[in-house]
Amino acid sequence: MEQVEQALVVGGGIAGCAAAIALAQAGARVTMLEQQREWKFQSSGIFIYHNGLEALDRLGVLPQIMAGGFAIADGRNIYLDERGAPITETRYPSRRPEIAPIVGIRRAELHRILAGRLGALGVDIRLGTTAVRIDQDAAAGQVAVVLSDGSAGRHDLVVGAEGIRSAIRRLVAGPLEPAYTGLGVWRSVHPRPRDLTAKIMMMGRGKRLGIMPISHDQLYLFGTLPEPAGQWYERADWPALMQARFAEFEGPARPFVRALSDAGAEVLYTAVEEVAAPLPWHRGRVVMIGDAAHASTPFMGQGGAMALEDAVLLAHGLSRGPDVETALRAFGQARQPLCQFVQEASRRVGEAGAQEDAAAIAARGETMRRTAQRQVDDFYARMDALRGPWPPARGA
Ligand SMILES: Cc1cc2nc3c(=O)[nH]c(=O)nc-3n(C[C@H](O)[C@H](O)[C@H](O)COP(=O)(O)OP(=O)(O)OC[C@H]3O[C@@H](n4cnc5c(N)ncnc54)[C@H](O)[C@@H]3O)c2cc1C
Repeated sequence: MEQVEQALVVGGGIAGCAAAIALAQAGARVTMLEQQREWKFQSSGIFIYHNGLEALDRLGVLPQIMAGGFAIADGRNIYLDERGAPITETRYPSRRPEIAPIVGIRRAELHRILAGRLGALGVDIRLGTTAVRIDQDAAAGQVAVVLSDGSAGRHDLVVGAEGIRSAIRRLVAGPLEPAYTGLGVWRSVHPRPRDLTAKIMMMGRGKRLGIMPISHDQLYLFGTLPEPAGQWYERADWPALMQARFAEFEGPARPFVRALSDAGAEVLYTAVEEVAAPLPWHRGRVVMIGDAAHASTPFMGQGGAMALEDAVLLAHGLSRGPDVETALRAFGQARQPLCQFVQEASRRVGEAGAQEDAAAIAARGETMRRTAQRQVDDFYARMDALRGPWPPARGA
């Protein structure tokens, strides 16, 4: 990659790891900073739809992801009501037969696989380190960066991938705080019964409870509902609070909701926030990607996939030139409409799930049977149209 010999990636989450891999694959020397002293992962899972898997394929790790996670080869998504009675089913699409429509995986496993690839590519990973000063040196065509360990260096590109509270976003876009959406997500991990092999969404009254396999022996439960702004819950109370919120869910959810009172139940609570940074997403040779630029609500399960796509398409754009700033501008202009579409669709789904309106709930089953598959198909078709064709794979 002629115009980017030396790149600095700040943040070692999904976006940062993926960007470091993609840039290193394109020939750059890459340093990646992660502020945590040791990589700690949220223990629950993530699902990755086919577009994120396609990006992981470009990053050279798809076989490991398929082996380490749980692929739903037929893309089956079952909708039940809160008692466990069937409503309808949909199928998630895939654009290539060798790529599953959806894979569930533990976050720690995803990061373990990405970290292995970073190591194989010789990326210089600095844990417990961040950037404390970033200065564009337009004359030299580089960015001068001072790190928290006191060292300093010059880079042809700096990628801000530090997630929703990105400091680099402030540098690029000025002050822009995450906005609370009024919704909370409760997640827990459980042993997977052998016959639970599909993604299940249970439709409650103003709540949703999802079940998703994340490995051959585990699944995770994710429940969403409105939560008051500024509410803080003691971590030790999370299992009991999750159990109380989803106590009315029966059917396949029942044993897992009950198990939340077992000692050692693994529960995470997240108050859902969003960020939609306006363009440009770069300033000089500094660019932001992933949640730093476009943190979404999780209701379409696309935040991680968007971060993976960002990384692959950023490196591709930079390797084609004509110069770094033009490539960064084109990157933002190409990505922002798609990320905005995903954010808006996801927010709509979250808000619809939070509604308690009795008439709408009564009509829900019939409406879903008529429209659910069409909505899935329309969503992915629109994403494909906004993204455009994937660039050819390396060596293709
Ligand atoms: C409840 C919930 C469920 C979700 N489920 C899904 C799902 O099923 N599928 C999906 O695709 N997406 C999902 N998402 C979205 C997905 O988790 C995010 O979009 C994705 O993790 C964003 O990755 P990122 O690397 O941009 O940010 P992050 O994952 O936040 O990573 C940022 C990294 O940067 C580090 N960092 C921060 N500041 C600094 C600094 N100053 N210097 C150095 N390092 C720094 C952090 O420690 C962290 O490691 C979900 C989100 C939520 C909230």
